Amino acid sequence: MNPANYLYRLQKLDTKKSQVVHELKEIEQKLRNDQILILAQTQNNEVRNNCENTRQHLHQIENQVKAQKIKIEQSESTLYGGNVKNPKELQDIQAEISSFKRQLSHLEDEQLEALIGVEELEKCEKISRENLEFVESQAGSEKKGLIDKMSLLNHEYERLSQEYDAAKQSVPADLFILYVSIRDAKRGIAVTQVSEGACDTCGSPITPGEWQIARTSSEIRYCPSCGRILFAS
Ligand SMILES: [Zn+2]
Repeated sequence: MNPANYLYRLQKLDTKKSQVVHELKEIEQKLRNDQILILAQTQNNEVRNNCENTRQHLHQIENQVKAQKIKIEQSESTLYGGNVKNPKELQDIQAEISSFKRQLSHLEDEQLEALIGVEELEKCEKISRENLEFVESQAGSEKKGLIDKMSLLNHEYERLSQEYDAAKQSVPADLFILYVSIRDAKRGIAVTQVSEGACDTCGSPITPGEWQIARTSSEIRYCPSCGRILFAS
């Protein structure tokens, strides 16, 4: 039997191992950058801060409105209390009350504006919070799925490595060194199958004579074009 048979078995295992490693790297990358979740968290924090600031602003205006109403009440009780009789003084108090009322009217407009602002932002806050909860639940289940898959792939890699070590036992040391040097030089593929008269890897034609030697003799044959070891089943 051609020694390429043993090497082809190693090649298949090596290729599977590379696929597993590739999949593991992809999962690690996905677990590292969960952009959608980060975006939802940032957005939610911004909306919450805006909402809190506007609530504080509203609270300040409410206090100013209360204080202004007290000032008006006090001036009105002085005006109507009967203690002040001087017409000029009464006129001054009336003018003061009118001024206080104008200020109050401005404050109440501002209060209404802030109240509408708070209501709007509370709606945004609710939507943003629900969005974050949704993204978090999705990320949670996706993350669990990825971790489970990672564990399966790690087991698979271990199993393939054991199988590889066992297969390696049938390969003479010099042949193994040859295999590894070609594999490392040629993007992971050292042994190529021959099918329908051509190299499976580069597509170059293989003569029936070469194919026959690769299939039956104990001599290693190489693809004339890509230089890989030929395996003909
Ligand atoms: Zn080839």
